[in-house]
Amino acid sequence: MDKRIKNTIENLERNGFSVEYFETSKDAKSALLTDIKKNETVGFGGSMTLTNMGVYEDLVAQGNTAYYHGRAKSPEERKNIIKNAATADVYLSSSNAITEDGRLINIDGAGNRLSSMLFGHKRLYIVAGINKVVKNYEEAIIRIKNVTCPQNTDRLDCNTPCRNTGKCANCDSPQRICNATLIMERQMYGAHTIIYLINENLGY
Ligand code: SF4
Repeated sequence: MDKRIKNTIENLERNGFSVEYFETSKDAKSALLTDIKKNETVGFGGSMTLTNMGVYEDLVAQGNTAYYHGRAKSPEERKNIIKNAATADVYLSSSNAITEDGRLINIDGAGNRLSSMLFGHKRLYIVAGINKVVKNYEEAIIRIKNVTCPQNTDRLDCNTPCRNTGKCANCDSPQRICNATLIMERQMYGAHTIIYLINENLGY
């Protein structure tokens, strides 16, 4: 593990988060599937990291009831899944950025993911590749607005300037996906936050 990642983990732990470090996403997924008990319900925030790791499919296969709006077949079903995810026993998400001083920075358009990071679950798991680690808050915002958002707006077919130029224009688009920014400096009362940091580039 390089010094920068070691330093980040120490700062996250100093800030009250639990951190598990994995060399591969395969190992991380195996630990996650063991840690989540079969009788626990699981909510998902939108995450390419979790999607590409196939976590939802494996949880369902092991018998968990899981709520991931990315698998909805209609807008109505999507709404219901998001509601159920908000009250699930545990919640899974990645983080848009993790700062070396031990904070989690996330930006949402709808807010379901941010609200679940703050409240409503026994445990919050943040699953992230080391590509999400940045120096500080300022770098986190630059990364999210100019790396994460352009790819997400493309994936979600949103008509925003960043989708076309790869750069944030602080737009007024009705389909703007960065409407609220959450800085988690410590874990919230009542929700154990466990960060699975993986030595791979995952998601965006
Ligand atoms: S403000 Fe608009 S242009 Fe900037 S990242 Fe958000 S959606 Fe893209």
